Amino acid sequence: MRRILIATSNPGKLRDFAGAAKSHGIRIAGIPNFSSLPAVVEDGLTFEENARKKAEEYSRHVPGQIVVADDSGLEVDALNGAPGVHSARYAAPDLDGKQPHAAEANTDDDANNARLLRELKNVSADKRTGRFVCVLAAARDGKTLATFRGTAEGIILEAPRGTNGFGYDPLFYFPQIGKTFAELTAEEKAKYSHRGAAFRKFLEWCDQTMPG
Ligand code: IMP
Repeated sequence: MRRILIATSNPGKLRDFAGAAKSHGIRIAGIPNFSSLPAVVEDGLTFEENARKKAEEYSRHVPGQIVVADDSGLEVDALNGAPGVHSARYAAPDLDGKQPHAAEANTDDDANNARLLRELKNVSADKRTGRFVCVLAAARDGKTLATFRGTAEGIILEAPRGTNGFGYDPLFYFPQIGKTFAELTAEEKAKYSHRGAAFRKFLEWCDQTMPG
């Protein structure tokens, strides 16, 4: 069976990826001893840069294996794409006009959501459009083989709705099914989310480039 290693310490992400990969005959596993490897500093200006950097650096620890890393976040049109690559640390104070690196200073979901609402205070409903973006990079022996981008288009609400999920989910209204991402079941999230979309593209690539 084909085997892919995922560069994450998040068991939820591993479970989601493993569930989607099973029907393709692909086995998903974490990188052995992932938590003891030096953390990769996510200082890229784009999701692609960060995903590639993580996949390339972690793949050096497992020679010959395909390693997948992801980077994701929320882009809001009225904020020129912010919080973007700073999504996990949006509530952190700026350092000389720059945000700290993700590895250094993630901030909690409630604080990030509160900042998002503050920034959009005077923005009308029709201009609160945005999207979740996820980029996956697949690398082997320090070189990126391919990247895959998934998006989910939505609208930022003025107050949270729903209790499932994490991050900006309660503020992210998904018109396609009339719910926020925090009102989706795990199955719906896998079907409609940016991460699910990127991972399905990755699985298609696996089927084409490494037939099982
Ligand atoms: P990471 O790529 O796992 O580091 O995620 C970056 C940040 O983007 C998270 O901390 C969340 O704030 C936000 N984010 C990414 N994906 C989602 C999602 O599916 N729902 C809500 N927030 C998300």
